[in-house]
Amino acid sequence: MPKQLEMLDKAAEEAASIRETLPETEPQPERTAVQPAREVLPGLTPRQDVFAGVVLGAAIGDAMGHPVEFINSVAQIRSKYGPEGVTKFELYWDRDGKRFAPYTDDTQMAECVARALLESGTLDLDAAMQLMAKKFISWSIDPQGGHRGPGNACLNGCEALRNGVHWSKAGGATAGGCGSVMRAYPFGLFFANQPPLAETWAVAHSKLTHRDPIALAASAAMAAGVALLVRGETVTHTTSEMVAAACRYSPATAAMMAQAIGEARAGVGPEVTLDRLRAWAAHEAIAAAVYILERHPDDPRAAILEGANTPGDSDSIATLAGALVGARAGARGLPPEWVRDVERADELLALSLQIRSF
Ligand SMILES: [Mg+2]
Repeated sequence: MPKQLEMLDKAAEEAASIRETLPETEPQPERTAVQPAREVLPGLTPRQDVFAGVVLGAAIGDAMGHPVEFINSVAQIRSKYGPEGVTKFELYWDRDGKRFAPYTDDTQMAECVARALLESGTLDLDAAMQLMAKKFISWSIDPQGGHRGPGNACLNGCEALRNGVHWSKAGGATAGGCGSVMRAYPFGLFFANQPPLAETWAVAHSKLTHRDPIALAASAAMAAGVALLVRGETVTHTTSEMVAAACRYSPATAAMMAQAIGEARAGVGPEVTLDRLRAWAAHEAIAAAVYILERHPDDPRAAILEGANTPGDSDSIATLAGALVGARAGARGLPPEWVRDVERADELLALSLQIRSF
């Protein structure tokens, strides 16, 4: 094992042993090893590369779509950023001596999901969801990096959780926005060896904030899709299984995905499909994601930019697309300047390397 990875593993073990000695109420120390991603990437095993590709691809997509999330036409995006629209990170922040392209609530919440699964470390669904609820509540009050356009359904779910409502009933019964599917990809990593569990756990986690069947279906499909892609399944098989997963919870969502896949294969352009699928709703978001995956399975740059240059919920579409194509490209296949510049690339990479699949 390359020395850098050994150091990462050792630091992760050390952090875990320190955590075990702390009382539960103590804040857990951030002891994740952080090395510049560009130094660590060359030493990754193929599986680590793929896991990092999912996490970093999602964060990059989120940051790419960040400046255009609320621009609701492609024409307006082009008039602001040029004839090709967004072609690189257009939003940079300078904080604490670092210059970076900031992601949004999508990545913040996905990190809460990943850390809850990592820290719970068991197949006890109820215990993991209770821990996730705690992390969601903390996020709603004081998110890492500050608030980044949180969705109302997410905030409402967190308020219900804070008021003691059980996690399985905290989300609105008709909450069907993209707030749960956007953070569902970590289940595909933790359950890469058991895709059916990726699906059922992602569905359970949606209920903390979104209980509408379209949100459950989209979360199921996303988690299953990531699990299958990291296992090296083909795009055709994966998207077909994603539709099947969605159909178990919402046939309407499955139908929307199937139509989008058909359009991608028929060469229907994004000006038609992604103009229709604005993705504020969960079923549209997952349909947009499979459309982009089908069109650009091995071109992360094209996939992420296509997701960002949309009139709808650009950061969430590009997050989903980034996670899916990142599973095929791996972190080494992502544009290196994007890996370098995305916010907290090093922390996110270290997080991805700590994940051990059930
Ligand atoms: Mg967002």
